[in-house]
Amino acid sequence: MALRVQKYGGTSVADIERIKHVADRVQKAYNQGDKVVVVLSAMSGVTDSLISLARQASKTPDKRELDVLIATGEQTTAALLAMILKSRGYKAKSFLGFQAGIHTNKTSGKARIQNIDCKNIQQALEKGHIAVVAGFQGIDAEGTITTLGRGGSDTSAVAIASSLKADVCEIFTDVDGVYTTDPRICSDARKINKITYEEMLEMAILGAKVLQIRSVEFAKKYNVPIHVRSSFNEEEGTMVVNESSDMESVIVSGITCDMNEARITLKRVPDQPGISAKIFTPLAEAEISVDMIIQNTRAGGETDLTFTVTKDDFERAKKISHKVAKEMGAIEILTADEIAKVSVIGLGMKSHSGVAAIMFQALASENINIRLISTSEIRISCIILAKYAELAVRTLHTAFGLDQKRQTHQDT
Ligand code: ADP
Ligand code: ASP
Ligand code: MG
Repeated sequence: MALRVQKYGGTSVADIERIKHVADRVQKAYNQGDKVVVVLSAMSGVTDSLISLARQASKTPDKRELDVLIATGEQTTAALLAMILKSRGYKAKSFLGFQAGIHTNKTSGKARIQNIDCKNIQQALEKGHIAVVAGFQGIDAEGTITTLGRGGSDTSAVAIASSLKADVCEIFTDVDGVYTTDPRICSDARKINKITYEEMLEMAILGAKVLQIRSVEFAKKYNVPIHVRSSFNEEEGTMVVNESSDMESVIVSGITCDMNEARITLKRVPDQPGISAKIFTPLAEAEISVDMIIQNTRAGGETDLTFTVTKDDFERAKKISHKVAKEMGAIEILTADEIAKVSVIGLGMKSHSGVAAIMFQALASENINIRLISTSEIRISCIILAKYAELAVRTLHTAFGLDQKRQTHQDT
């Protein structure tokens, strides 16, 4: 007998027929003798519609009330699945975030889970119930409903799996697993059977939305085995696990694309000590995280400073930049939000050189201009114009041989 946490995403619970199909799968695991905790997302599109309603109510919706509103999407699906299971004669019980003991900090809209008290779920499991949990939501120390950020049901599921010491956390979604790149962009993308937490984390950070970043951080920290798989077939998906010796060791494991960044350039800033601090301190104080930064020196004691922020923070970052630029006498500010960040990721890069050169040559072969570059031990990212994003992903996928047999260290 195993303890399984199964999370179903928005497309998998998009209507009653699909929720009934989820009920079939849950029953199957339960009838096998497994204990099952189900974590659900809202029906696809519902969170977006709730956000749009809130914007109609107020230009800048109150963050506390916005969380109260958007948490209802998951409340609906959890209640419906529990109802269906009960009507079929199964013992089932739904739990909202607070009933499932998901305690978070106070940051509305992107709260972090601080601890989980799973006693209610545990009691239900001991009594032979299927526990159905509303994903995405928790409660802060003052009893206020919070949400965990877009895609947050993945994190609810992994956190519950970790707290219950579940044998596996299954993430059921609308693709067959984690692919070498987004299969909706590149039809040659291939499913990866096993991927390390480290690579999966980079892929999530760099735009592969198949798992929320925090869910992978959590799984890595507490060693929760994740199985990403399709809710529409029985195929084995992708296991996200620690690096092990039986793993195929690849140089490049995946390509990602993130369309959610925007660029700000302060031109002709005085080239003096303390200038970067003057710009980035007020941004940090406004809780705006800056991703890439590049500084070009020009003649005459001046420099150009370029950086990227997420599109959500773009307007606020622009305002702050204009203010700072005025104070320190920058000549001009340029901004662009039609940009994309394409990245190449792989643990094998730690011990292999030449990956950057292949990446730059591939982009050049399609005449794609690189605006900014950043690297880490296991990834290289380039900012390019958004209109070339899909072409860049497909070109890089081919350039690194990802559409053929995976390239291994042994092969090279
Ligand atoms: P869910 O609603 O089930 O949480 P998401 O839409 O959040 O599903 O995530 C699944 C989507 O992630 C897929 O439909 C796919 O387009 C996208 N995706 C992006 N990169 C990848 C990748 N490397 N492998 C698989 N899916 C990816
Ligand atoms: N419903 C939320 C969203 O759309 C959370 C999730 O689906 O994981 O972001
Ligand atoms: Mg998701």
